[in-house]
Amino acid sequence: MSGSAGGSAGGVVNGGISFWYADDGLPAVRAPLAGDATADAVIVGGGYTGLWTAYYLRKAAPSLRVTVLERKFCGYGASGRNGGWLYNGIAGRDRYAKLHGHEAAVRLQRAMNDTVDEVIAVAGAEGIEADIHKGGVLEVARTPAQLARLKDFHTHELAYGEQDRELYGATETAERITVADAVGSSWTPHGARLHPAKLAKGLAAVVEALGVTIHESTPVTEIRPKHAVTPYGTVRAPYVLRCTEGFTANLKGQKRTWLPMNSSMIATEPLTDEQWAAIGWAGRETLGDMAHAYMYAQRTADGRIALGGRGVPYRFGSRTDNDGRTQDATIEALRELLVRFFPSLAGVAVTHAWSGVLGVPRDWCATVTLDRSTGLGWAGGYVGSGVATTNLAARTLRDLVQSDSGQGGPTELTRLPWVNHRVRRWEPEPLRWLGVQGMYATYRTADRRESATNGARSSRLARAADRVSGRH
Ligand SMILES: Cc1cc2nc3c(=O)[nH]c(=O)nc-3n(C[C@H](O)[C@H](O)[C@H](O)COP(=O)(O)OP(=O)(O)OC[C@H]3O[C@@H](n4cnc5c(N)ncnc54)[C@H](O)[C@@H]3O)c2cc1C
Repeated sequence: MSGSAGGSAGGVVNGGISFWYADDGLPAVRAPLAGDATADAVIVGGGYTGLWTAYYLRKAAPSLRVTVLERKFCGYGASGRNGGWLYNGIAGRDRYAKLHGHEAAVRLQRAMNDTVDEVIAVAGAEGIEADIHKGGVLEVARTPAQLARLKDFHTHELAYGEQDRELYGATETAERITVADAVGSSWTPHGARLHPAKLAKGLAAVVEALGVTIHESTPVTEIRPKHAVTPYGTVRAPYVLRCTEGFTANLKGQKRTWLPMNSSMIATEPLTDEQWAAIGWAGRETLGDMAHAYMYAQRTADGRIALGGRGVPYRFGSRTDNDGRTQDATIEALRELLVRFFPSLAGVAVTHAWSGVLGVPRDWCATVTLDRSTGLGWAGGYVGSGVATTNLAARTLRDLVQSDSGQGGPTELTRLPWVNHRVRRWEPEPLRWLGVQGMYATYRTADRRESATNGARSSRLARAADRVSGRH
């Protein structure tokens, strides 16, 4: 397998897919497709979306012949590289409220809250040991402008039914975690920390044991109604479900569907008990901030900090992956961010760095769709919130397939407002590249200005970038 070993410079293991695989080991790769085949449903892509979909389809109809075709190995993409925030955020909720009404968006939010518990319950029932700890999500503000945004955000979330969310001042925040300059935070119980690769590996094994056929090292070059075409043969099935997220642009005809956006992470060496005592973080909440170019972090089961943010956000022509290899400047920027949050960790070694791709639709709204006339389905466009959302998408795809094949009718899930949502495609190059570079440069400038001026108003620059990019 290419890229199974990461590069190592300055003591940092760079790439090698992700720290999670360095920690838990890369999986043995399953056999590729050996020629033409048939199935009742073929799933393209073995990340969380594809694996959960296979899981729920097979659980609903144990005789259904389900095949997963995976280009590399299950969990090679974002599912084996993410920050391990299993939480209730979903990309596009506010836009769905505008399109379908507040009540519809509240139903979507409730479904997301339940999804966090669903993942935890299924992992428990199926014996998937993924270091899950449900400590909630804590988002901190470190400037007056971030605090103003935090308070707005908090009120906004309450309006979507999150009555169990709590707002903390500087002192209450410091009781949970010592983040430098923290002036407040918002906490929700609807979140858990997990080990992404352990979930992906465990899920693949469970799905296979249920009787799903998985072929790895099998790139699908083209999807068309009832056909998934690979160099080794074609799988024919009434349903072909595309679950390729940030890699979608590589498929024939999909270049401008979802923009592949990079996100990069670092992991530190395990901290000592004294270092942990200085920081606190006993609740192991997943940790985020309110910067425009935001960060996300977790306290890992083996006592490290894994922290992410935007690196080089987007590569020209929707190029995606280099087995997680990350630019030195990005690693340094993330290390500086870590030390800004936790100055006492200035001497701590960063041991791993990696990157992965998210899928970003033109309107930043996650979707799940089944086209009844062709049997083609897809789910994705989760932007940075897919660890839980993939599970909701998979249960929804199951219901859509069941309903279409006469095994059931519409359900609560198929009535959610993100189902069958369509959006226009991204602009051709070079506009796409220029747009994303400009947007992130603007976010970084806005964050710097807010820190420098210490004002309470959000930068107008960032709001303009949001509008131009289609984000709000
Ligand atoms: C660095 C990073 C941090 C993140 N942190 C978080 C987080 O903390 N919380 C959160 O909620 N979300 C996070 N996300 C997003 C989340 O990880 C994703 O939304 C989620 O994993 C998407 O799962 P997926 O199965 O749709 O896509 P992927 O996991 O990307 O899986 C797609 C799969 O399809 C395969 N594939 C692609 N093309 C083909 C083809 N032509 N033929 C066959 N197979 C193909 C790929 O090899 C891959 O295995 C993060 C993402 C990244 C990159």
